[in-house]
Amino acid sequence: MVKKRIFNKLIPDDYYHSIYDIDLDYLVSIGMKGIIADLDNTLIPRQQNHTSEQLQEWLFRAKKIGFQICIVSNNWKNRVGAIAKKLELPLVARAKKPSKIAFNKAISILKIKEEQTVVIGDQIFTDVLGGNRSGLYTILVVPLDGKEVFATRIARKLENVVLNQLKERNIIPKRGASRAHDLN
Ligand SMILES: [Mg+2]
Repeated sequence: MVKKRIFNKLIPDDYYHSIYDIDLDYLVSIGMKGIIADLDNTLIPRQQNHTSEQLQEWLFRAKKIGFQICIVSNNWKNRVGAIAKKLELPLVARAKKPSKIAFNKAISILKIKEEQTVVIGDQIFTDVLGGNRSGLYTILVVPLDGKEVFATRIARKLENVVLNQLKERNIIPKRGASRAHDLN
């Protein structure tokens, strides 16, 4: 039973091909007000600094329909700070996800409640696990292409075990802004 409980913490509430497929209107309709977004391979490819027009438009639209957004990144290099500044978003760096501390910090920055907060990220063992441990709504996205550090590549192998389990439960990434399903 304990095993099952741990596994459940690895399951996202939703799974999309990219942030652009996420149904933001649905999230608003269920009372969500804040987005905690991972940076590397979620918003932009790792080791890139370019913030695309598509990303800026997505952030603009999300803010327009009422979302407050905070970047929470395990990365600590100057690059992360520069990107957050360019995107005009608050940042929690060196987050040590899946630790709950950074998520709580982001929630207090955004001045919202836990139950109004969505976590979006590309990694099960940091973004999804940390978000679920903090009682937040979690959305997994397929990672953007970017060179990954060694530890992440190891984590990916373990992730594949979980992803295969998800597939068996018919939880597969969705394309397009379709209504989110309840995965439970
Ligand atoms: Mg990431």
